[in-house]
Amino acid sequence: MTLDVAWAARWTRLSAERIAAARDELTELDRQIGDGDHGENLDRGFRAVVVKLDGAAAGEQPPGQIGDVLKLVATTLMSSVGGASGPLYGTAYLRAAKVTGLAELDAHGVVALLEGALEGITARGKAQVGEKTMVDAWQPAVDAAEAAADAGASTADVLAAAARAARAGAEATIPLVATKGRASYLGERSAGHQDPGATSTAILLEAAHDAATA
Ligand code: ADP
Ligand code: MG
Repeated sequence: MTLDVAWAARWTRLSAERIAAARDELTELDRQIGDGDHGENLDRGFRAVVVKLDGAAAGEQPPGQIGDVLKLVATTLMSSVGGASGPLYGTAYLRAAKVTGLAELDAHGVVALLEGALEGITARGKAQVGEKTMVDAWQPAVDAAEAAADAGASTADVLAAAARAARAGAEATIPLVATKGRASYLGERSAGHQDPGATSTAILLEAAHDAATA
């Protein structure tokens, strides 16, 4: 089964639902090691994305390709999300849109999309694995997706592997000391808390999988 533009639209809408449902959880995580706005930031961003998507879908040129949807998400997050995560996620979706120039994605196409997103985040934020950021969810997600695709997994199973690895990566940020972003101001005191951005990454990748099996 390949993934098409309808999947991208379902992923986007489901992301908005899941982020809205997790808004308080994400805000609480960010209150522990940041400024307590991550849930609010992403919820505002994804609400704006859905408004844009509704407008585009009803317009004269509805998004025809996966990349069109990802680009819409990217530009809307960049303009509506304050804080570090807006430009980071915006660049992720933009880079993913660029590498996803096809109408449909097979398992390796999904890997390319996820790799593009990770490259966007590291190009923008310069964080590496272990610095207690969203990269700690994205990197294992990309690795797991690649391994699954190489083993012949379906698109849905590649996304399942990515989502599981992202969730485990987010949980594994708990003991880490932050050395990038706002949480790094806390130094050693950032240990013992789960990174909000890694957590929202897990939520977004779980939505990507669930949209593929819906
Ligand atoms: P802000 O920190 O500006 O308030 P948010 O609260 O929306 O922005 O987002 C915080 C999240 O952004 C962190 O939990 C972390 O995952 C992510 N983040 C911050 N700086 C970086 C970076 N340089 N690279 C990757 N991710 C980062
Ligand atoms: Mg914050």
